[in-house]
Amino acid sequence: MTDEPPPTDDPIRPELRRAPSVVLVNTGDGKGKSTAAFGVMLRALARGWNVAVCQFVKSGDWKVGEEKLGRELGVTWHALGDGFTWDSNDLEADRARAAEAWAVASGIIAAGEHHVVVLDELTYLCNWSWLDTKDVVDAVTNRPAHVNIVVTGRDAPAGLIDVADTVTEMRHVKHAYDEGVRAMRGIDY
Ligand code: ATP
Ligand code: MG
Repeated sequence: MTDEPPPTDDPIRPELRRAPSVVLVNTGDGKGKSTAAFGVMLRALARGWNVAVCQFVKSGDWKVGEEKLGRELGVTWHALGDGFTWDSNDLEADRARAAEAWAVASGIIAAGEHHVVVLDELTYLCNWSWLDTKDVVDAVTNRPAHVNIVVTGRDAPAGLIDVADTVTEMRHVKHAYDEGVRAMRGIDY
């Protein structure tokens, strides 16, 4: 609660301009990064836009909720994380797979056939040095003007934050997991 009175001025500033597209980054250690990205996916679908989702971390059955619905709603869905072998110590193999995954995603961005491209958990590939952040920054910077991009994942690299329009850090205040509650269908996946 605050002592402030409710606003009376129109909060929409007249000098605001329209952008052909924006880049959103959802990062931080709290829950909500991917959830918010899929919220944007729904908004875009509601406008009749083409949407593509690229998931970079192996999901198994976990993301079955949003993937199932996304496919039903006509989203172009790529589970690119399925190619990674998480227990391998073969850095070169991981790099090669990351490059393949990135080739798919960057191709989708450059093709310009989708109004929204969600790059879910992409930051990890940069943070693990499987992917050069510069390649991501270049693809985002040189994207067709109408292509909006949403990137999720912890510890978004500085270069990506620099080229983004909207960056949100989800902060971990509490998480049910801390109290031993396992991930819930319908809530977490
Ligand atoms: P969500 O997909 O729920 O929006 P997220 O994308 O912000 O989560 P991820 O690290 O991708 O975060 O989380 C994947 C899974 O881990 C989800 O089931 C989520 O509920 C859970 N999770 C997210 N944040 C935390 C946290 N701080 N502690 C424990 N589990 C978490
Ligand atoms: Mg996530």
